[in-house]
Amino acid sequence: MVKLPSGERSIAVGLARVCYNGGMDLFASVEEIKGIGPKTAETLKKAGIKTVRDFFYNLPRDYDDYQQATSISKMRPGKVVIRGKIDSLTTRKARRRNLSITEGVIRDTTGAVKVVWFNQSYRAKQFQPEKEYCFTGTYELKNGRWQITSPQSAEVADVDPKSGLSPVYVAHGAIRSYNFVRLMTNARDKFSEIPDLLPGIAKGVRREALYKAHFPESLTEVSNAREYLAYEEIYELILASRLNRRENEKLKGVVIPFKVEKIREFVRKLPFKLTNAQRLSAWEIFQNMEQEVPMNRMLQGDVGSGKTMVAALSAYEAILAGEQVALLAPTAILATQHYEGLRELLGQFGVRVELLTGATKHKPELKKRILAGGVDLVIGTHALLTDDTEFRRLALVIIDEQHRFGVEQRQKLMLKSPAGVAPHLLTMTATPIPRSLQLTVFGDLDVSILNELPKGRQPVITTIITEVDTAERLYPKMQEIMTSTPDNRGKGNKMHGQQIYWICKAIEDENGAKMGVNGAKSGAGAGGGSGGGSEITSVKKRCRRLREVFPHARVEFLHGKMKPAEKDDIMEQFANGEIDILVSTTVVEVGVDVPNATLMVIENAEAYGLAQLHQLRGRVGRGASTAYCYLLTSGDTPPSRRLRELERSNDGFHLAEVDLKLRGPGEIYGALQHGALDLRIATLADTKLIARARKDVDKFLDSGNLADYPELMKGISRYQQITTLN
Ligand code: ADP
Ligand code: MG
Repeated sequence: MVKLPSGERSIAVGLARVCYNGGMDLFASVEEIKGIGPKTAETLKKAGIKTVRDFFYNLPRDYDDYQQATSISKMRPGKVVIRGKIDSLTTRKARRRNLSITEGVIRDTTGAVKVVWFNQSYRAKQFQPEKEYCFTGTYELKNGRWQITSPQSAEVADVDPKSGLSPVYVAHGAIRSYNFVRLMTNARDKFSEIPDLLPGIAKGVRREALYKAHFPESLTEVSNAREYLAYEEIYELILASRLNRRENEKLKGVVIPFKVEKIREFVRKLPFKLTNAQRLSAWEIFQNMEQEVPMNRMLQGDVGSGKTMVAALSAYEAILAGEQVALLAPTAILATQHYEGLRELLGQFGVRVELLTGATKHKPELKKRILAGGVDLVIGTHALLTDDTEFRRLALVIIDEQHRFGVEQRQKLMLKSPAGVAPHLLTMTATPIPRSLQLTVFGDLDVSILNELPKGRQPVITTIITEVDTAERLYPKMQEIMTSTPDNRGKGNKMHGQQIYWICKAIEDENGAKMGVNGAKSGAGAGGGSGGGSEITSVKKRCRRLREVFPHARVEFLHGKMKPAEKDDIMEQFANGEIDILVSTTVVEVGVDVPNATLMVIENAEAYGLAQLHQLRGRVGRGASTAYCYLLTSGDTPPSRRLRELERSNDGFHLAEVDLKLRGPGEIYGALQHGALDLRIATLADTKLIARARKDVDKFLDSGNLADYPELMKGISRYQQITTLN
């Protein structure tokens, strides 16, 4: 029994073998492992397994249990575990395209049974006739013959004799789970050479945990091992994040004095009262910018909470001090909207605002003016990131919808300030970060939260509806919306009423990352080849259909493959009320603000993740009128928990927590940041473990010496790159 440093619980991993502190180089190439040659190493490298360390940390995704083996003659229909030799293995192509069938016969001393695998032709290579294997699968009657269909299998020698457990690894290319089992067995002796890693952890705990994760004698051992490894992972994340913060504090920013009177005057001129949350956030930002240490703050606020106004206040403050500000937005539509809004808002105070997107004309001339300091606030898309966009004095960088940008992109912008000076950074997101992630991955950030919507906002009434009900339940509602009194904050539409978004099919986003299509499990009919082409087809088709249904309405479409100018044009017409129904892909997801749009239909809703659905829904309910969201499903299966949660709640923070529980942190993180952090153990929902690791990291940073832990430092550098925001 070994105690965690400050743990109430202990990790019981009784490793029988002798441990000694060998001088093993964990960062040596994975080719050090017996059985891994250059070809295998190449495949593993593609899967991110480059070093011996990566190899040990490539943990099983599951464990098969071959404990209760029966003899073949005693098998009953249903799940069975048997042991035997296999022969007569053949693989053939089925008449149906893309299907291969591998079949054979498993024999033990009592009988024989047919075995079939689909699309697993590697099975033919896996088995050797003289060796004995365990199988677990379903024994069933298929086409008049009894067989075992697609069983899991392991060589008897690789199964723990007491527990019957055999690890299952994620296959990478030609390297299947059973290959990993073999390789891991080859490396079995090396575990005793794995050095300790974390300060304050008893000797040998680490190697023991790793060993037990790969060669468990019981599931209790597995869970103990994983608990330690989860602790280790969280510890590393928190340490990386703390060190980032230290690094950031060494940088020099621009001191921007707080001009109270000017800001008061600005706020007085606004057409509405700031929410308290907006006031507080702005104040926190002003406080930061007064310091020499550059700000690194994230503004989290649910859709419609008024983040742009906080950005405007921050920008104005910096500009009052004679500095330049850059605002980066993920799409041209959004950049344009920010530009129009902020030019109007800030222009009256003499602020010079310009827009820089791919479609901007006279770019060289504009860039010259930016460099000369003739522009105060530059709003733009990725076009802003090119090397030839230079500033005279860039003191504040604002990034809207930060999760849409990668680390490198943000870094590019941060480097545009004068040498030796780091601009203040304000990132904004409507995808709230669950608290547990906040504490680990994003611990180096200061956070402001807009937890309050502007007055008069009502929750969006959300309804799950199946496709067969559209004509009866949805179309009449749409008709009603398009002819009801326009929202007083918006401009009435062509039919003198309110407007509608119709969102089609989840597709690839502009960065090529799969947005929404989350966990193939859920996608009822969502998967099948929805490339760019079919995205356009589906938008156009839906548009035609709606024109038939609503002959008096103006129905237009928008998709990511349109030219920026076309997109802007359609969006502008929609914002001006010239379009009644906008059929669109998720390009409208981000930030677009049309208060008179009060109904949204999300087709194929099961194909999106919870966070994205919430974001999409946030496009409506921005005015004073009641807004509606219809989540359209095929109805083939009961609605998922995701959709039901969305129906019940409009609270983005609540939904983010639910999402974390439903999906696991890896995916959440992926959605937040394209950099992708592959958490191996992924227990970021474990708040107790996080609290313990935080305490331990702090203790270490207070009294320990980083230099004594070279492997730890080297290991966390990958996290540092990811967690840092500048
Ligand atoms: P988001 O946080 O989603 O980016 P926006 O900044 O786009 O939200 O704001 C949504 C809408 O609310 C905008 O039309 C904005 O003008 C308006 N708004 C912002 N702050 C307030 C406020 N304090 N009172 C009323 N309306 C506000
Ligand atoms: Mg916004």
